[in-house]
Amino acid sequence: STPRRRLPKWLKRPMPSAEMAFTGGIIEDLGLETVCESAKCPNRSECWAQQTATFMILGNVCTRPCGFCSVPKGKTETVEQDEPDRVAEAAHRLGLKHVVITCVTRDDLPDGGAEHFYQCVLKVRERTGAAVEVLTSDFMGNRRAISRVIEAKPDVFNHNTETVPRLYDRVRRNAVYQRTLDLLAQVKEEDPSMATKSGLMLGLGETMEEVVETCADLRAVGVDMITIGQYLQPGPGQLPVERFVPPEEFEEIAKQCHRLGFSMVACGPFVRSSYHAGEMVHDMATG
Ligand code: SF4
Ligand code: SF4
Repeated sequence: STPRRRLPKWLKRPMPSAEMAFTGGIIEDLGLETVCESAKCPNRSECWAQQTATFMILGNVCTRPCGFCSVPKGKTETVEQDEPDRVAEAAHRLGLKHVVITCVTRDDLPDGGAEHFYQCVLKVRERTGAAVEVLTSDFMGNRRAISRVIEAKPDVFNHNTETVPRLYDRVRRNAVYQRTLDLLAQVKEEDPSMATKSGLMLGLGETMEEVVETCADLRAVGVDMITIGQYLQPGPGQLPVERFVPPEEFEEIAKQCHRLGFSMVACGPFVRSSYHAGEMVHDMATG
């Protein structure tokens, strides 16, 4: 197998801190999952020190085989009816002002977990008054399920494109590029005031032209906010990094995204879908 590549110096991050242990303790106490841990996100020390975390609902086992993702695959878990309350309690104890809720893809559930998602958004808002961002699966294109999540009125509806369409087979097998665009279009159709957001990872073999075309497709369906970061291989079982994209290229892509008219652009090696999510919304609200 391909040896994991050494990180260039612009990808080195600070070490864990006490605040990180504090956040980790609360999450463990309440028996929750965070994508920060499951995806071995490189921003953990920074986000957790700022008491920001992305909760992952609907279990820690996914029905999709995405090549970049280290979330376990296999037999899915029972949906825990008290999970919405536990997420709300964790958000409260952590004093979060912006809560990101994401999920594994549950192709085994008739509604893909949409009703559960709805409950989580409502409980978090009720308990904390925080802004809520959802980062959803594609619900296999089930429009009724997608509507249910829109009805929860999240402040931001985020669904990641992840990569350019040519690489879907390798990176996002079982997903469909058009289905992702359709989902994002549906949110705007049903609630034009809802902010929509999507994201891409670079370093998987895409070209700059393909990235810009994908961003243009996202703008064409009304996407407001975009996040673009460097893919990092979470473990030996995931796709290798084809290339570490230098910061200058990220800057160039950011420029193109501004030109396309996104109202918020987060583009750089460490950018993740939920990185500085609260600030992005704040910036959008305050222009
Ligand atoms: Fe990971 Fe989401 Fe793909 Fe599941 S659908 S493997 S959680 S990226
Ligand atoms: Fe968690 Fe998102 Fe921060 Fe990563 S960027 S540590 S997933 S909140």
